[in-house]
Amino acid sequence: MELWYTEDQNNILRFSYRVNQSLHVEKTPFQHLAVLDTVGFGRMLVLDGIVQTTVWDEFIYHEMIAHVPLNTHPNPKKVLIIGGGDGGTAREVVRHPRVEKAVMVEIDERVVAAAREYLPELSVELDNPKLDLRFTDGIKHVAASRNEYDVVIIDSTDPVGPAVGLFSREFYSQVYQALKEDGLFVAQTESPLFNTDVLARICKDVGAIFPVVRTYLACVPSYPGGLWSFTLGSKKYDPLEVKPEIIPALGYRYYNLQVHRAAFALPQFLKEALGQG
Ligand code: SAM
Repeated sequence: MELWYTEDQNNILRFSYRVNQSLHVEKTPFQHLAVLDTVGFGRMLVLDGIVQTTVWDEFIYHEMIAHVPLNTHPNPKKVLIIGGGDGGTAREVVRHPRVEKAVMVEIDERVVAAAREYLPELSVELDNPKLDLRFTDGIKHVAASRNEYDVVIIDSTDPVGPAVGLFSREFYSQVYQALKEDGLFVAQTESPLFNTDVLARICKDVGAIFPVVRTYLACVPSYPGGLWSFTLGSKKYDPLEVKPEIIPALGYRYYNLQVHRAAFALPQFLKEALGQG
């Protein structure tokens, strides 16, 4: 008998994945957590019924959320990761040679425990000496930080439950304060196709606080619609002016200089929705 896992998007759309077996299911203090072994995507982390990452395509999302900001900032010595409990973003951040220290603040210890047990490809660097892993609310951590980080990466769940506040204008202004005077941040900002309004509101909020605001896209097959957005807010450096000579040769699988530049080319409907038309 075939087993399928279905992610309900809304009342008009569902995505189904063929599954070998369910490896782990639990209710944490923050969310419902599952790890599935799928036929085509390998192991998959699911939180509150939403696919977070799969072993097959995680490199796309994690390289793009980490290396675009890290190579936009000329010297990203100290980095803060909010969320990212699967470890994929931390893995990319600590292998960047100019990063000296990374603080990762994840609200749900159980996500990290599941990643350590079932997703070794992603959690492989969680004990790296450059990484300081803390279990608390990222909103509180950011509110208590001043002039501390070169780069902040917000690798959060969708804007529901504990992540709602990570998508607010107030939070972006606290991120501004947590950054050094030439700092920048990036956040995953949902589907440009299904969540255009959310993305437009985020760009407006970030643009009210940061002098440079840029949205970029990548293709992540396990996220609804395939196309996914990231939004970068910067006090000084513009990702469009990336300097090729500072990009370290790290054996990327998705990211490169051409992809870095091209990711900022937005389709016309999106430019118009974001007020850049
Ligand atoms: N790549 C994923 C995506 O876009 O679907 C996100 C991956 S990661 C698993 C998201 C993490 O954000 C979760 O582990 C969740 O517990 C964490 N998170 C949500 N709200 C948070 C908060 N306020 N502070 C810290 N971590 C938070």
